[in-house]
Amino acid sequence: MNFSRINEWNDFKSRPFLISGPCSAETEEQMQTTCSQLAQTGKVNVLRAGIWKPRTRPNAFEGVGVEALAWLKQAGIDNNLPVATEVANGQHVEACLKAGIDILWIGARTTVNPFSVQEVADALKGVDIPVLVKNPVNPDLQLWIGALERIHQAGITKLGAIHRGFSSFQKTAYRNVPKWEIPIELKATFPEIDIICDPSHIAGNRELLAAIAQKAMDLEMTGLMIESHVDPDEAWSDAKQQVTPSRLNELIDTLTIRSTEASSAETSTELIGFRKIIDEIDESLIQTLVDRMALSEKIGQYKLENNVTILQIKRWEEIKRTRMEQANSEGLNEEFMKSLLQLIHKESIRQQTDVMNKSITIG
Ligand code: PEP
Ligand code: MN
Repeated sequence: MNFSRINEWNDFKSRPFLISGPCSAETEEQMQTTCSQLAQTGKVNVLRAGIWKPRTRPNAFEGVGVEALAWLKQAGIDNNLPVATEVANGQHVEACLKAGIDILWIGARTTVNPFSVQEVADALKGVDIPVLVKNPVNPDLQLWIGALERIHQAGITKLGAIHRGFSSFQKTAYRNVPKWEIPIELKATFPEIDIICDPSHIAGNRELLAAIAQKAMDLEMTGLMIESHVDPDEAWSDAKQQVTPSRLNELIDTLTIRSTEASSAETSTELIGFRKIIDEIDESLIQTLVDRMALSEKIGQYKLENNVTILQIKRWEEIKRTRMEQANSEGLNEEFMKSLLQLIHKESIRQQTDVMNKSITIG
């Protein structure tokens, strides 16, 4: 894919490229007040508002609809800022183009559905408006890439991605778990893509916003999309996660924006040195794993000859206890060590199962 970077179509000066505005446009006054306060911070690059809201249950507030497009556009004109909204079908696209909306985004519930994404893409043929594609609700990188490709194939060259986290059946501290490895993998696939993090929909509350925004900046993401409302507690949608424009201003001030490359020559040489050591440690880590796996294959062979089961719970419990004790006393993170042990154990079992299965087919 060949598309232009955000700084080629928006003259933002420094990270984060910031998109902010209410979850939903509610009234003309709410839009005017929120947007002018946001513009006054001098930190916002694009104003946002939801016009059509995808809601989990019927009869919830489903957005004001077309009428509110004019409020959003007017807020942009009044504050000299481009405006963005979510589109989920061809009619939304047509209405936005007619109203002069500057940037469109595809929501998480739309990205999951190739039929809907294609409909949006078809409606976009012949127009070159910037489009941002949110990750799908489910953690499926290919589906996210597929949606970006469909929009790109429609002729859109101003393309970006929004990371808003993934729905999870398990109860977690997040509304949508970030699974940072997925946007990182997207960036590895398309290094030139700008990723904007949406801490509001990842957090689902105000408390976690700053930490998520900081992490996004440390992962070299280009920008942030954060919902803001003049009176967040009274918001008609996503009340818990919205912040006032002044709180947003403070939040952005607390961020540490680290340079993407080490600046002085001294730190670079130091970095190169550190990286060399890391390379060596990784090499020896891999060799250690090779040795361990070779041994576990031998044990598999022994178990086969002596009719012993592959999994012996007592031994596994013993391994976990002793390794966790050592890791703990050395200050390694408990969760990390647990996952690592489980991975190694799973691979050992797979290998030993192979040994046993081979004997079945041979025998
Ligand atoms: C939104 O940005 O208001 C929204 C509905 O987000 P998502 O598609 O990420 O749920
Ligand atoms: Mn929202």
